Amino acid sequence: MPDHLLANIDETLDAYCNSRSLPRFRARQIREWLFKKRAADWQAMTNLPKTLRSELADELQIWSTKIVRHNKSVDGTEKLLLGLADGGQVECVLLRDRVRRTICVSTQVGCGMGCVFCASGLDGVDRNLTSGEIVEQMLRLQLLLDDDERLSHIVVMGVGEPLANLDALLPALEQAHRPEGLDISARRITISTVGLPKAIDRLASMNSHYRLAISLHAPNDEIRDRLVPVNRRIGMAAILQAADNYFNSSGRRLTFEYVLLADINDEPKHAGQLAKMLAGREALLNVIPYNPVSGLPFRTPTAERQQQFRAILEASGVRVRFRHRKGDDIDAACGQLRRSQATQQS
Ligand code: SAH
Repeated sequence: MPDHLLANIDETLDAYCNSRSLPRFRARQIREWLFKKRAADWQAMTNLPKTLRSELADELQIWSTKIVRHNKSVDGTEKLLLGLADGGQVECVLLRDRVRRTICVSTQVGCGMGCVFCASGLDGVDRNLTSGEIVEQMLRLQLLLDDDERLSHIVVMGVGEPLANLDALLPALEQAHRPEGLDISARRITISTVGLPKAIDRLASMNSHYRLAISLHAPNDEIRDRLVPVNRRIGMAAILQAADNYFNSSGRRLTFEYVLLADINDEPKHAGQLAKMLAGREALLNVIPYNPVSGLPFRTPTAERQQQFRAILEASGVRVRFRHRKGDDIDAACGQLRRSQATQQS
């Protein structure tokens, strides 16, 4: 079995070049082909000698995953369902919004957080993804772009809890960020988390400059304990403290996410409590009207209810953005494609 190149690309290429006494620029050329020139295989790397290309193909495997499904939405959203070497599956998405080209990647097979409205965690977590598998999602999505399109943003908002897999995520984001990698600035890379204070503190102490989005979903612990079970042993005060600490060390404005669920967290008094909680914080509130998951009892609030919720927050001076739904026709929301595939098979 050839080695998976993306698992540890720098060391693997160095070792390969050393063992064959190849000049160091070969490693640089290969990186360039993969990250900048969007090569899909070794044969595409036309400035490498043909014999070297076929040797590389025998010894180093670029892709460890297979494309199980590739869905395209009428709105330009594309979604890949990838089959992992051990049989697991992950999803990742490309979103097109004017000049923005945002990719959304997964970090785990399933999710252990158990948020009651989310499709990703319904069957728990199988395992963490490796750095190579995370980088692979990025490169596979980049290959979907036309020549005149450029990847501009990365959101770690796919299946899984990114901060429960930081050890694999950070090296993968490093490949996304570094100039010889995808060269995407840290400002344009967002990690979305359920809110794990220790891991947020670790990011702060590392001087990380990625944007952080925290999935709040509730204006108080009582509601959050019901929606986000891990909250019972964490509590919102500890999350907000870690978030403030991250803001102070990174200087990046925080994003709070709030899935709006009819008759659960969408009442005017909830908007009022939320506004109080966010007052004085340099933050953006990202409201996501619930995207229905089949089999779950939750509903999307009416347009009027959404508007009322928004107006209360705006009147209190909170910066609010409602997230538009994209790719509805292709199950683009997190965990849904993987799930619909599993349901069809079972
Ligand atoms: N584990 C990370 C990433 C999850 S997905 C986190 O919790 O942030 C990104 C966002 O989508 C999270 O805020 C998540 O709560 C939200 N989400 C999950 N299922 C949803 C649904 N059915 N409708 C709308 N938003 C959903």
